[in-house]
Amino acid sequence: MPETSVRVRFAPSPTGVLHIGSVRTALYNWLFARHEGGTLVLRIEDTDQERGTPEALESVFGTLRWLGLDWDEGPDIGGPYGPYMQSQRLPIYQQAAARLLERGAAYRCFCTQEDLARMRQAAEAAGRVPRYDGRCRGLDPDEAARRAEAGEPCVLRFRMPDMERLKVPDLIRGEVVFEAREFDDFIIVKSDGFPVYNFANVVDDAGMKMTHVIRGEDLLPSTPRQLVLYDALECPPPQFAHAPMLLTPERRKLSKRDLPEGALAYRDEGYLPVAVVNFLSLLGWSPGDDREVFTLDEIVQAFSIDRISPAPAVFDKQKMEWLNAQHLKRTPGSELAPLVRERMVAAGMLGPGEPSDEEAGYLVAVVDLMKERARTLNQLVEHSRFFFSDEYAFDEVGVRKRLLKPEGMADILVGLAGSLDAVAPWTAEAIETSFRASADAQGVAHGTAIHGARVAVSGQTVGPGLFDLLAVLGRERTTARLRAAAEKLRAGAFLSGSGTTA
Ligand code: GLU
Repeated sequence: MPETSVRVRFAPSPTGVLHIGSVRTALYNWLFARHEGGTLVLRIEDTDQERGTPEALESVFGTLRWLGLDWDEGPDIGGPYGPYMQSQRLPIYQQAAARLLERGAAYRCFCTQEDLARMRQAAEAAGRVPRYDGRCRGLDPDEAARRAEAGEPCVLRFRMPDMERLKVPDLIRGEVVFEAREFDDFIIVKSDGFPVYNFANVVDDAGMKMTHVIRGEDLLPSTPRQLVLYDALECPPPQFAHAPMLLTPERRKLSKRDLPEGALAYRDEGYLPVAVVNFLSLLGWSPGDDREVFTLDEIVQAFSIDRISPAPAVFDKQKMEWLNAQHLKRTPGSELAPLVRERMVAAGMLGPGEPSDEEAGYLVAVVDLMKERARTLNQLVEHSRFFFSDEYAFDEVGVRKRLLKPEGMADILVGLAGSLDAVAPWTAEAIETSFRASADAQGVAHGTAIHGARVAVSGQTVGPGLFDLLAVLGRERTTARLRAAAEKLRAGAFLSGSGTTA
């Protein structure tokens, strides 16, 4: 691959579960890398020792894998610029810090917490923004080195260059200008020897040869500090793109508190990875036309940074649900069946054993039928219960309106069952012909027969076309259920006692 090839990274801090906003960042980097034929690096920013947990790391891996966002270099697969866990790169940061110290671009600061607190109080009392006052700037470096060696606690601070403005060129928002007085001599290495985020991030992005940094707008205020660090380290900075912040439908900033469960919760709720990716891709980016439903390949093809808008994007779960429904419709039943099966087994609707060919075929037929009206896999499973058990619940309003109210419904159902006994082959067309003929012969309106039969065989008032439904349900189940419902009607057993269930 040529030297100039795109290199981007996703650099999560493994604290808590991976949030949906972070997943959008991962996705934009992945899309850009794949569109450009470049490289995506997964780097784990775990220098904040207290907060990182192995579960959080698992959540990063698990979420990206579920969504099909693969990486080319990372802690699990290695690569030419490893290690890819910041906690394993401490010597690299120490070397970089030593270089800055040597050049006078950084200095040791021995100020204690109390010193800093006093500085803050004084600034606040004077109505100034609190900032480090630079009192250790002028310490003799050799003397400072001796004090540090003797064990006196100190941090390393970056010596902010004298400038009026800091300009951040951003591929999404143009040039963003910061007043230099907002920035003091910030800490780059803490007294425990660990680098702070800004420093480790820059050392790694430079060392890992990143060409672009795509991340959330929340990190934009860090970028000026990072740019002066690149300068001091004599490394060319990458190009920056800060994706817009996410808002709740009430147009509040979306925070981890709004969606504390993390992105994998959408898997549990029955969302397809492609729908989540499709949804997240549109939180800031747009293809430039009115298409909304995309396959992964189509998004990769269409993606470009210059079509990301700086305007905040609203996280609208209903839109995600709608997209999920679209993708359910488009995905063949045979592909969805394993996901549905897993859920049905968990819900006790199917046994855990290997299904026979017939059972497997039945499941695919059910899924193909039911995916047309479901918004999530979980809903599809819930609406399909009656295909797998005779113990399905009856919709109370449906029973009153479609079974109890029409005159002579028990006879009608028995008549329909008798006619369906003779249908061959058992196809939707043949079922419809026989069904309608039976209704005519009985002098019953087709609608009355259709609605009644639907409630009788499924317990529900809505669903796929009745004849398609019966074709999948099968002759035996259909006729047995029609007759069982008739019997129950005759016995006055519908809606008696507690019963809305069969
Ligand atoms: N580790 C940082 C975070 O999770 C992101 C670093 C970056 O993308 O620059 O917020």
